[in-house]
Amino acid sequence: MTMLQAITFDLDDTLWDNHGVMARTEEGHYRWLLEALEAWRAARQETALALSHEGGGQDYLQRRQQLAKEVPERRGDFTWLRLRALEAQLEEAGLHRSAALMWAASAMNEFHRLRVQVTPHPEAAGLLAALTERYQLAAITNGNIHLQRQPLASYFPVAIAAGELLAPKPDPTPFLTALSRLNVAPECAMHVGDSWQEDVLPAQQLGMHAVWISELGDRALPPRVHRIAHIKELPGVIEKLEKRQHHSGGVYSH
Ligand SMILES: [Mg+2]
Repeated sequence: MTMLQAITFDLDDTLWDNHGVMARTEEGHYRWLLEALEAWRAARQETALALSHEGGGQDYLQRRQQLAKEVPERRGDFTWLRLRALEAQLEEAGLHRSAALMWAASAMNEFHRLRVQVTPHPEAAGLLAALTERYQLAAITNGNIHLQRQPLASYFPVAIAAGELLAPKPDPTPFLTALSRLNVAPECAMHVGDSWQEDVLPAQQLGMHAVWISELGDRALPPRVHRIAHIKELPGVIEKLEKRQHHSGGVYSH
């Protein structure tokens, strides 16, 4: 057995609860867009566009879903889907193409401004700070949070946006990309995440250790998989693993 050298983390619903911020971001950036556009058109003495928050928001969602079907390789690249959907919606609503592109980009700036306003679990920063003393750390997310602007960014020298790689988890590519950048073999690494399908299974199948964050322990755990209810229990799992590795020879056996 070899020693643990690196730990990779999912972000959303692993290091923070994502639900509230996502709802605020969804609602907030579209409302911002409609209000800013209305003011811009009024200043130019142009009529308001026929886009309501509710109807327009529903249409925006349907356009993203349709686009993800038409361009399946982009299905996990949520920023791309949103930009293209907004551009098309605004152009169809009557904006010139150049104005549609500008307003779609501005709306996505607002999206990212709101999207990074996550509140990490209170234990997260201290935990990551302690882990960086002993392990290399990386973040691997399917989400489209701005990786350099998220509040825990300084702990992750390697951060992978899997959707932008066109290989959202459970695709093994983002895991292998992180491991290769860290120069660590899968069996010397651990992935921590809340999704059984997107975090635990692909990591386990690559030979990594995996820590599943789930309050319910309703499954049999395959080898190298550990379950915790909350990120604050992670040090206990690592300690147990390190002890076991130490007793079995650690770095001296391969
Ligand atoms: Mg997650």
